[in-house]
Amino acid sequence: MTFEELGLNPAILSAITACGYTTPTPIQEQSIPLVLAGHDLIATAQTGTGKTAAFVLPALELLTKKSTLPGKGPRILVLAPTRELAGQVMESARNYGRGIRPRCGTLLGGMPYREQLRLLSAPVDIVVATPGRLVDHIERGSIRLDRLEMLVLDEADRMLDMGFSEDINKIVERTPSDRQTLMFTATMEGDIARLAEKMMREPKRIQLAVSTSSHALIEQRLHVTDNLNHKKELLNHLVSDSELTRAIIFSATKRDADELSRELSRNGFPAAALHGDMTQMARNKTIDRMRRGGIRLLVATDVAARGLDVNGVSHVINFDLPRFAEDYVHRIGRTGRAGATGIAISFASAGERNYLERIERFIGKKLPELQIAGHEPTTTLRKPAGRSGGPRKSGPGGPAGRFGKPAGGRDGQAKSWSKSAKPAGSTPRSAPAPRHEPVIEYRSRRPQA
Ligand code: AMP
Repeated sequence: MTFEELGLNPAILSAITACGYTTPTPIQEQSIPLVLAGHDLIATAQTGTGKTAAFVLPALELLTKKSTLPGKGPRILVLAPTRELAGQVMESARNYGRGIRPRCGTLLGGMPYREQLRLLSAPVDIVVATPGRLVDHIERGSIRLDRLEMLVLDEADRMLDMGFSEDINKIVERTPSDRQTLMFTATMEGDIARLAEKMMREPKRIQLAVSTSSHALIEQRLHVTDNLNHKKELLNHLVSDSELTRAIIFSATKRDADELSRELSRNGFPAAALHGDMTQMARNKTIDRMRRGGIRLLVATDVAARGLDVNGVSHVINFDLPRFAEDYVHRIGRTGRAGATGIAISFASAGERNYLERIERFIGKKLPELQIAGHEPTTTLRKPAGRSGGPRKSGPGGPAGRFGKPAGGRDGQAKSWSKSAKPAGSTPRSAPAPRHEPVIEYRSRRPQA
């Protein structure tokens, strides 16, 4: 299918061409006709699938027809969980809408009110907002939503995780009941189904399943770690590899992100942190520096890195495993973008075994375990084969013969990662793991009627 066949306005089509897109992604192919036909929609799709254009393009199409309603409120409202994601949606709307020139802007927490009030002082076409700040504006009386034609909830699951449920309800109450509602979410579990039930009318559903495929360009690796010090040792070793040109390192907490970036910098590997306690200006500056190549290592938390779109990330390193399996997919999707290959490395200590199992169930495969000579773990996370059905076998060459080395065996010296990494359970000098084995892709399913 082509973008022309989707029936979009020529001004939108030429903007798409200018962006270099030739064919719609599966989520775009499925959702755009449904949205253009006026349906409510729930799409289960991760970032990296092209989901932003899947709602921005039909929203722009809607704007090609004049509104007959009086007032200044937005015709299209997009709610997003983080300022970064909202910023990226706005950028997409400006890019794809360059031929239509919608009047649009963001209402984001942590940003000055003055500009936002100026935006709302004249009729506006598209508003992209984080829920808290939008509620502020509603309560101050600076925005009305009675002219709204389309409401989009981007990463709705994450907004609920972040405690925005009440704010979303307040916002929805102020919108006309005949609006069109689109919801994008990584999962349909938990409160999401209830929220959808409450606010949507006979929604169509699209599900993009996570599956393994040879298309995927991300190689995933697992390193079993003994403790925090062992993780730090491995991290220092990995970042000393010249093949690692740009990396995002994920930590569990904001404080860890700060500490880890400081520690890396002290060790001669300049790094920056990105987390939700930083001001919006500091976050934007950091992201810009990384985009321009001024930062090689970024230590981030999940929320701050959600939706982060930086090209050329060669490695994602999960210093701590995420609690939610969906976040694992989000994280590793920061690399292997735009046709490039990428490496996603996860550290897992005994306390993270449950998270690891959750992730492996979610992606439908075991992460191949590797060790680095001189940095081997003294413990194992996998249950012996036969009980878990895991990839490593017990007996000679298996876990029993491989582990139990004293921790003092680590020399901490930087060796080239690609040369010294070896699959766990192999002999020390065996060939490194294949670089681009099948990993993750988003496979589309037919929408359910
Ligand atoms: P998203 O899932 O919306 O975060 O999009 C992921 C990336 O895919 C962004 O960098 C988009 O610019 C890009 N993209 C979106 N649609 C297409 C398309 N049809 N062809 C090529 N790239 C696209």
